[in-house]
Amino acid sequence: MSAGGFGGGGGIASERVESFSYTPARRLRPNAKVLPEHARGHNRALVLQTLFASGAMSRADIARATGLTRVSISDLVASLIADNLIVEVGLRETSRPGKPATLIDINRDEFQIVGLDLSDTEVFRGAVLTLDGEVVTMLEVPLDGATGVDAIAKAVALAADLVEEATVEVLGIGVGSPGVVDMTGTVRSAPNLGWTDVDLQGAIEQVAQVPVIVANDANAAVLAEYSFGGADGDLMLVSVGNGVGAGLLVGGHPLFGSRFAAGEIGHVVVGTDGGPLCACGKRGCLEAWLAVPHLRELLAAAEASDLPAAEVERRREEILRAAGERLGVSLAAIVGALNLSEIVVSGPEELLAGVLLDAAIETVRARTMTEFHGGVQIRMSEQGADIVLRGTAVMVLSGLLGVS
Ligand SMILES: [Zn+2]
Repeated sequence: MSAGGFGGGGGIASERVESFSYTPARRLRPNAKVLPEHARGHNRALVLQTLFASGAMSRADIARATGLTRVSISDLVASLIADNLIVEVGLRETSRPGKPATLIDINRDEFQIVGLDLSDTEVFRGAVLTLDGEVVTMLEVPLDGATGVDAIAKAVALAADLVEEATVEVLGIGVGSPGVVDMTGTVRSAPNLGWTDVDLQGAIEQVAQVPVIVANDANAAVLAEYSFGGADGDLMLVSVGNGVGAGLLVGGHPLFGSRFAAGEIGHVVVGTDGGPLCACGKRGCLEAWLAVPHLRELLAAAEASDLPAAEVERRREEILRAAGERLGVSLAAIVGALNLSEIVVSGPEELLAGVLLDAAIETVRARTMTEFHGGVQIRMSEQGADIVLRGTAVMVLSGLLGVS
């Protein structure tokens, strides 16, 4: 299927660079001063965002929901229909006399999004997704140890294959990459893939001919949790896998940090008592305590012993509790600094849910101020293994349409 932006001047593609922020717009907070030249794009995003959140509505409903005048809404809706971004979907069923209102909605069936999740060490995964973040088609490509340019080539080829798989026009491609990613879609550093200053956005855009947005995988995941998981706007998503990373939303806005490495909590040492040796050379990094391979290794050792079953179970709990406590120590300071309302943990449930998470919760509670931080919710994500892919869909929607 053909791919591309919205041809014609004033289309979304040409506005992308200046409007790019990939800020979730679920609770759009207009700046006090909206310049006239920005107002139109802002109001278009507001209309799209309202429809995205609420589904089909009449023009009068949209005017009420956005606070814009009926005249403005008619004008904006006409231009969005001309751009094929929204469609009239029929008349409202009503028992009241008079002409029923025409309902309009985002043109959900006419566009798809391609998402790539590069966070797994064995395979690159990708999907064609609906605008609502549902997976239509999934493809995987084994990494076979590829790094550097070989790994870039695999990501580019996967993106191109998925664009071919799409059954309607591709709105854009979102990529969740491990490592530190800057605002231009350059992967500054992803040691596992041997990437330093890789212009991944440029490489994929050149071949796929579709707008591309690249972000850190945990930053993508936190957007999925926010948009599809009903999380509040002061949220941290902690992703536990081969490494440990986090994505942060503060006041509904992603936090990137001065060097784009906000949320990189994996290689921060927890405590002053040493701990397991980490791949980075330090002892007692959060990742050294909590990474999935480390936990599986400890649990396998306990299970391989000749000890009675009850003792094996006791050791299993001890291992998981120790890891959970270290996670809690790390989180407590962040909860204190940012006054987060919610922390969501994503990763293998059989390891993380239960003893480990309970220990983390207890530790955070014991180490923070009850009156201000006691309400923080700490839970497992319900977004499943597709969380990064679904997050990339949010990136594309918010980056290109101002919607999430
Ligand atoms: Zn480390």
